[in-house]
Formats: sequence, C-alpha cells, structure tokens
Amino acid sequence: MKFSKLRILGFKSFVEPVEFHFEDGLTGIVGPNGCGKSNLVEALRWVMGESSYKNMRASGMDDVIFSGSHSRPARNTAEVVVILDNAERRLPATLADTDAVEITRRIEREAGSVYKINGKDARARDVQLLFADASTGARSPALVRQGQVGELIAAKPTQRRAILEEAAGISGLHSRRHEAELR
Ligand code: ATP
Ligand code: MG
Repeated sequence: MKFSKLRILGFKSFVEPVEFHFEDGLTGIVGPNGCGKSNLVEALRWVMGESSYKNMRASGMDDVIFSGSHSRPARNTAEVVVILDNAERRLPATLADTDAVEITRRIEREAGSVYKINGKDARARDVQLLFADASTGARSPALVRQGQVGELIAAKPTQRRAILEEAAGISGLHSRRHEAELR
C-alpha cells in the first residue's frame, strides 16, 4: 500500500485546501508545537474510516470540522481525499481496479460522513475493509499516536493480541467472520 497524495479541506486546522505529495522513501513532518502535525496524521486516519471521535481527540465527529478562528468563521464541511498507488493491484478488484485509487470522506455538520471510492458512493465498511485487507487503516499499528507507546506498554494481553493480529494482516478476516456470524 502506497499513499501518493493527501488532500485536506476544512479538516481541523486545515481551513485552506492543501495537497501533500508523498515521495518514495521516508517522509518527515516537522514544525512548531500546535502547527498541525498530529492533525495531518489524523486526517489520514479519518479518511481510512476511523469511526471513533475520541481517536480524533474530539468530543463529537463534527469537531473535526474547522471550528473558526479570530479571523475566520467556522466551516460546515470537511473533506479529506487520499490517493493510493494501486499499479500492482493490491487492493480488492471488486472495490478498486485502477492504477490510482481515490478515496474521499466528507462530513457535513449534523449530517454525518459520506465516502467515495473513485468517485462512486461507498460504505464506511467498504473503505475500512479495503485498508484492513491491505494491512493498514485507521486502527493499523502502522499509525502510532502521540503517547501510544506508553499505552502499549501498559496494555492488557488481549489488547496486545489485537495489535499483533492487525500487524499480521488477519484482522480483515476476523471482522468478516464476525459479520458472517451475525447473519
Ligand atoms: P505538537 O508538536 O504539540 O504535537 P502538533 O503539530 O501535533 O503539535 P496539532 O495537535 O496537530 O499540533 O494541532 C493543534 C492545533 O489544531 C491547535 O491549535 C488547535 O486549536 C487546532 N485545531 C484542532 N481542531 C481544530 C478545529 N476543529 N478547528 C480549528 N482548529 C483546530
Ligand atoms: Mg502532535
């Protein structure tokens, strides 16, 4: 799974539209405290289907929308788009069968989120499974939150097991089995 671009508009402190390009190799984000480094990582996690506003350091999902500043009014919508390099066709062909795959999540105040995969309406579940199968995603151990290393050390064995299953790339299977059992 390779991210090529990330577009953010109206998400948290990103009131102006911005587009980040991921080059090959390691990418570092540097800047002073409070400049939006964690917000950027959260935008990436959010577009991959994060459903917990607590994991977004928010008290409701609408809190991810730019809330205004002394010089700018609050916005009513936020949108994050991630563009994935799928030249090697690693993503499930049923959901995405193009070289570049564009995933969009958009939220409107009091109306919740909508998702699109390559411009077509999709369910949160489709987006979450797409990333779970690629062993990445909103809950992936590839994304380590500020302070999470300390939490890992203090975690219970069952919580640690869930983390290892994500890392082993089998959590997509678990989540499908759970759905099958419910039917
Ligand atoms: P640190 O180096 O301390 O970890 P950081 O670069 O990770 O800082 P962030 O936590 O990403 O910084 O950004 C914090 C800033 O984002 C704060 O100024 C906060 O007011 C702003 N912010 C968060 N949510 C919103 C929102 N919904 N609307 C506007 N600004 C927001
Ligand atoms: Mg931070």
